[in-house]
Amino acid sequence: MSDTLPIPEKVRVFLARTHGLLIDGAWHAAASGRTLATEDPATGAAIGHIAAGGSEDIDAAVRAADWALREHGWRAMPPPERTRLLWTLADLIERDAEELAFLESLDNGMPLALARFSVTGAASGLRYNAGWAGRIAGEVPTLSAPDHHAYTVYEPVGVVGAIIPWNLPLTMAANKIGPAIAAGCTLVLKPAELTSLTAIWLGELVVEAGFPRGVVNIVTGLGAEAGAALAAHPMVAKISFTGSTATGQAIAAAAVPTLKRVTLELGGKSPVFIFPDADLDAAAIGAANGIFLNSGQVCVAGSRLYAHRQVFDRIVDTVASRADALSVGPGTAPATQIGPLVSAGQKQRVESFLADGARDGCMRVAGGAAPTGAGHFVRPTVLAGAQPHMSVYREEIFGPVLTIMPFEEDDLDALAARANDTRYGLAANIWTRDISRAHRLARLIDAGTIRVNGAGIDHALPFGGFKQSGWGRENGREGVLAHMELKSIAIRL
Ligand code: ADP
Repeated sequence: MSDTLPIPEKVRVFLARTHGLLIDGAWHAAASGRTLATEDPATGAAIGHIAAGGSEDIDAAVRAADWALREHGWRAMPPPERTRLLWTLADLIERDAEELAFLESLDNGMPLALARFSVTGAASGLRYNAGWAGRIAGEVPTLSAPDHHAYTVYEPVGVVGAIIPWNLPLTMAANKIGPAIAAGCTLVLKPAELTSLTAIWLGELVVEAGFPRGVVNIVTGLGAEAGAALAAHPMVAKISFTGSTATGQAIAAAAVPTLKRVTLELGGKSPVFIFPDADLDAAAIGAANGIFLNSGQVCVAGSRLYAHRQVFDRIVDTVASRADALSVGPGTAPATQIGPLVSAGQKQRVESFLADGARDGCMRVAGGAAPTGAGHFVRPTVLAGAQPHMSVYREEIFGPVLTIMPFEEDDLDALAARANDTRYGLAANIWTRDISRAHRLARLIDAGTIRVNGAGIDHALPFGGFKQSGWGRENGREGVLAHMELKSIAIRL
């Protein structure tokens, strides 16, 4: 394995500190005094400690957020002030970009290049959302009732509980803070216990940026403790969750007794279609990048690749040789393209899917032994011969595993039926130069995001899932609206 870069001095100092919970503008130890170790997934070694927040800490953070919203003037904060705070936070993220990227890579395992990209994305996401503050206005409807004047206004929903996963920690934190603040809410953010370090650094930047106390609170801790307490807290008006479908179901159930607003960005098993008229090399490389990025730990990963029979062998060859050429190693080694999985548990989960695939008769056309040792490495793997009943075909593996299948039909309804043969509906990718086919197929697939010929995702585009991939949308105007209530005010003249 290639050599890792030395830990930057500021990161070293940060790691050596004991981290607390950001509640009401100050850092506190967990009420229980407990901490959790966090590890470098490339080595399994502990790199730092975070506070293990629990229900008492969540209660304090929610009360601080409620006080900031209702009593300390956040509701009356002019939108340009909220815009300014988000821009300042984005500027500070850029100032600390190199340290944040290194810390993200060390804590999550992602390659430094991806970590740098996600730090930039976190800053641009905050700026995008900053632009929405004060821009969402109601209407003056024409009424049937005579002598009435009425209008509608959008108001912040209240205290938001944001629960985020470990796959893109800083991006997720910024994407939860941005729209909540733009909408005029306050929030309590619960980072994933496996990867809380960049959220803690971000919390320090929140304080430095001058956010009033209680507006952004950050409570680290276990999902079953801090997360569950946040999802159930009666003073939380809305839960914004990103993570697995199973946890999303638990959170939705926890929100029912108080009828919280809930948005859920959950799992996927997204299809990729490559037609013979596509730019085949771009399509094959795009498909490989689409599944292997961040070792497949991306909710929109294109994990089911369908290549037309005419080009199937060529696509398999290109994807497989790309997979085998990718350099696997610690994220903080500059040559690394594929880092470790986030945890031993995640590696075990992926390996058990690979064992299922082998038992079911799939053929491994790329992959093999990963670097040994205590790190959680899995080589990019391509499986041929998967059938719809197999677990590798049906389940979200959340690892660097691609199933590749041929198709012969030109009938788009039949292809869409294949795409839609899943409980998920997060994303789909289409590679073709036939513009009619692209548009037609895009309309037939039940998924929230359809990308054609390698298009990326964008903060302006609503993002979310059909079916069990979630509820609601993030990003764009929809993402801010999801943090607001609509009120009608009518006056008899
Ligand atoms: P994984 O199972 O891979 O850890 P999850 O979807 O469970 O992924 O985790 C995403 C986030 O949800 C994390 O911040 C985690 O702590 C949190 N979480 C896990 N279980 C619960 C729960 N029961 N209630 C609230 N949050 C939870």
